[in-house]
Amino acid sequence: MAEPKQESLDKMWKYVKGFAEKSGTAMHPMPAVTEAVVKGLAMHMDELGKPLCPCNFYKDKAAEAKLRRWMCACDEMQIYKYCRLLFVREDGLPITEYLPEGHEGREVYGVVTDPTPEKGRALKHKATATPTSLDETPASSSSTS
Ligand code: SF4
Repeated sequence: MAEPKQESLDKMWKYVKGFAEKSGTAMHPMPAVTEAVVKGLAMHMDELGKPLCPCNFYKDKAAEAKLRRWMCACDEMQIYKYCRLLFVREDGLPITEYLPEGHEGREVYGVVTDPTPEKGRALKHKATATPTSLDETPASSSSTS
C-alpha cells in the first residue's frame, strides 16, 4: 500500500493537533483511528495538493478538491462541530448537539453535547435547521469512518 510523504504527514499532524486545540476537541481514544485519518489526509495532500477528507467516497476527487466543503476542517466541522473520527470528545463520541434534526449523525449517535461550547464553529452562522445541504454529502466509506 502506498505511503504518504513524511513531509505531508508531519504537516497534517501539526494541523490536526492545532485544530483540535483551537476547536476544543480531542483525538480519538484509539490512536490507530487518528493515525488512519491523518494518513488519509496526507495521501490526499500528495495526490491533490489539498487535505480532502478521507472519510468519504467521491465520484470525482479532483473536482471535489476544488471546493471547500470537504477540506479538513470541513464545513460540517466549522458549522456544526461534527466529525465522526478525528475531532471528537475525549470519550470518542462525535459532537452532534448542533446538527440539524434528521442528520445521520443525530440518528446514529443521538444528542452528544459539546464540552467546550466556547470553542470552534467559526462558520456557525451558516447553520441550517434542516440537513438540506447534506443531500450533497458524498457517500461515507467504511475504510476510515
Ligand atoms: S469529517 Fe471534516 S473535520 Fe473530520 S476529518 Fe473529515 S474533513 Fe476533517
